[in-house]
Amino acid sequence: MAQEFDLFVIGGGSGGVRCARISAQHGAKVGIAEGRFWGGTCVNVGCVPKKIMVSAAEYGLWAEDSAAFGWEMTKQGHDWSKLAAARDAEVARLNGIYGRLLEGAGVTRFEGYAKFVDAHTVEVGGETIKAKNILIATGGNAVRPEIPGAELGYISDDLFTLKEMPKRVVVVGSGFIALEYASLLKGLGAEVTLMYRQALPLRGFDQDIRQAMADALQEQFIGIHASESPLSLEKTSTGLLLKGDNGSHLAADAVFFATGRKPATAGLNLEAAGVKLGARGEVLVDDNHATSQKHIYALGDVVDRVNLTPMATATGHALADTLFGHKPRKASYENVPSAVFTSPPVASIGLTEEEAAKRGPVNIYLTKFNTMRHTISKRVGRKTLMKLVVDAETDKVLGAHFMGEDAPEMMQGVAVAIIAGATKAHFDQTIGIHPTAAEEFVTLRTLTRRTEKTV
Ligand SMILES: Cc1cc2nc3c(=O)[nH]c(=O)nc-3n(C[C@H](O)[C@H](O)[C@H](O)COP(=O)(O)OP(=O)(O)OC[C@H]3O[C@@H](n4cnc5c(N)ncnc54)[C@H](O)[C@@H]3O)c2cc1C
Repeated sequence: MAQEFDLFVIGGGSGGVRCARISAQHGAKVGIAEGRFWGGTCVNVGCVPKKIMVSAAEYGLWAEDSAAFGWEMTKQGHDWSKLAAARDAEVARLNGIYGRLLEGAGVTRFEGYAKFVDAHTVEVGGETIKAKNILIATGGNAVRPEIPGAELGYISDDLFTLKEMPKRVVVVGSGFIALEYASLLKGLGAEVTLMYRQALPLRGFDQDIRQAMADALQEQFIGIHASESPLSLEKTSTGLLLKGDNGSHLAADAVFFATGRKPATAGLNLEAAGVKLGARGEVLVDDNHATSQKHIYALGDVVDRVNLTPMATATGHALADTLFGHKPRKASYENVPSAVFTSPPVASIGLTEEEAAKRGPVNIYLTKFNTMRHTISKRVGRKTLMKLVVDAETDKVLGAHFMGEDAPEMMQGVAVAIIAGATKAHFDQTIGIHPTAAEEFVTLRTLTRRTEKTV
């Protein structure tokens, strides 16, 4: 006899676990399948282990900077295996928490890859399961570029299985993952080079931030080969050789490809369920996250909209409330704050200057400075940039963009203000906290420029 559920979730990552847990708490009978690791990408090969490594890299910089403040500290080198052990223990702890959260909520767990048999039937490890509603929350996978020798390079997952730090690293790509990897490996002591197709990194971010980030990376001796794509990767007697289409020949011990991710739908047998895919391989959904089959839903990276953990959990929670909590609601895809954990980090919310100017004239307030810490440490490549994009007609703050230490921690509060509809006058009225970098956001008195509506 097939087990029957009100909701069956495919994928035990950020979105799937949240939806399963909250649905069960609302009284639904819920099952969930996970093929690889509970907690999904974020916990196992994404946000969490990466942020631990970012912190490790930052300690090295702090130790160096402390000399200017009178400390006599000697950096004795970094023990990669010690860091890896601490990181892996934390990931294992979180895996356990995810499992216990699901069990505590009464969700039935299945370990294995699930596939559709028909629109109401799923199979996991030879077991047949029937469900009134099904959620596809299978996330995405990194893809390698289609060049000869690509299999010799690493993808982002591989960082967390390396036994030692590679000395010479090339990172291909200019999205947030590429930059974070370049930055943390540099901080841990590797020689790092970036190669990317665009003229500037961080496509989609505000242009001033993109330029400031490119400058900061270069000042920190991260080599940049912009406007160049990889042609081939080959083994040599001393390691690897990456060739680019502008003639670069880059010798390396490790090459990371962070050139893109693809929705994970292979093997789901979606045809059997009648679920349609879009041009990028993403599961097509409506505003309620329903697929082309009304009782089959999809969310998180597999729908390829805003590929961030809090977006997956927010939409998963909203779906659970809608289906089983008698509280129909949607999580908004507008004004989603995000961060890049580089050194210095970047955080951003709302419209870029370019996006805002498409809607109407905007006033730009921008400042770039060295924080007190770095006027003393003299560290290069750690300038702070803060920018507000303000609607010239309504005075509403449409976007805030920040590169500098603690930018992600600080932007969370600014995000609340922007979602509440704050105007520039509200920012001006706010008393600063002194001495901080954050206070600059409320003391940006001088208009930097007015940008007219673009046609
Ligand atoms: C290196 C890296 C760093 C990142 N850093 C950040 C960050 O700092 N902040 C942030 O917000 N986001 C970050 N992200 C993005 C974030 O990890 C994803 O947006 C988030 O995990 C998406 O959640 P999800 O539930 O859609 O998918 P996932 O978390 O990927 O979960 C999907 C799960 O489904 C499972 N699965 C797939 N197919 C099947 C199947 N057929 N049957 C059963 N199980 C299946 C997978 O094994 C996986 O566990 C990062 C991503 C990467 C790769």
